[in-house]
Amino acid sequence: MIAAELKKLYNEIPQGVTLVAVSKFHPAEAIREAYDAGQRCFGESRVQELLSKIPELPSDINWHFIGHLQTNKVKQIIGKVSLIESVDSERLLDLIDKESKSAGVTTRVLMQVHVAKEETKFGFLPEELLDYFNSRKFEKLEATHICGIMGMASNTDDEERVRRDFAEIYSLYKTIGNNESLGLRGFDIVSMGMSGDWKIAVEEGSDMVRIGTRIFGSRNY
Ligand SMILES: *Cc1c(COP(=O)(O)O)cnc(C)c1O
Repeated sequence: MIAAELKKLYNEIPQGVTLVAVSKFHPAEAIREAYDAGQRCFGESRVQELLSKIPELPSDINWHFIGHLQTNKVKQIIGKVSLIESVDSERLLDLIDKESKSAGVTTRVLMQVHVAKEETKFGFLPEELLDYFNSRKFEKLEATHICGIMGMASNTDDEERVRRDFAEIYSLYKTIGNNESLGLRGFDIVSMGMSGDWKIAVEEGSDMVRIGTRIFGSRNY
């Protein structure tokens, strides 16, 4: 089932778009099944769950952290993930940098932007994100590479609203990335799209989709 879903997805997803298989709440055996079908990139949203899965699975997996990361848990995942997609505050970013520096590694991150209408979602507001870059605060980072941005659309059946949200995230990504005076290097990932809306996200420019339910089935929270 998992292998068949993955195969179907890879036929649908355009080349150049990275598929992150979101395995949160699913057991290591399910991840193993996807791994055996060739998948190497997985997304997890809870630190304890991620840390318990890592030793059970092959070491060539690229783990992406995609959930809200509490500052007191940063240290535990530094050096173990290939991308933290969900940097949602300056404080978190500064801490990632500090812990990466003391661990002697460089951590790759995406800045999470909040455009959806839900009150509860984490992330920088578009103005806050622009301020962060325009004030050149990123220049003080020593061991963190900001690779791009991640965002979610509103959780709604209104397809036009979803499309507008993705378009807003993409436009923000371009505004920052195309601002040559910032001198950003390797700012080239815009992660948007999940099981229910990834096609719209890709149409609006996404180059990284995070898909869970469609591959692994529904989650038991
Ligand atoms: C859970 C989650 C996903 C995957 O959602 P599905 O609808 O199961 O595909 C994608 N991105 C983030 C940030 C998530 O927390």
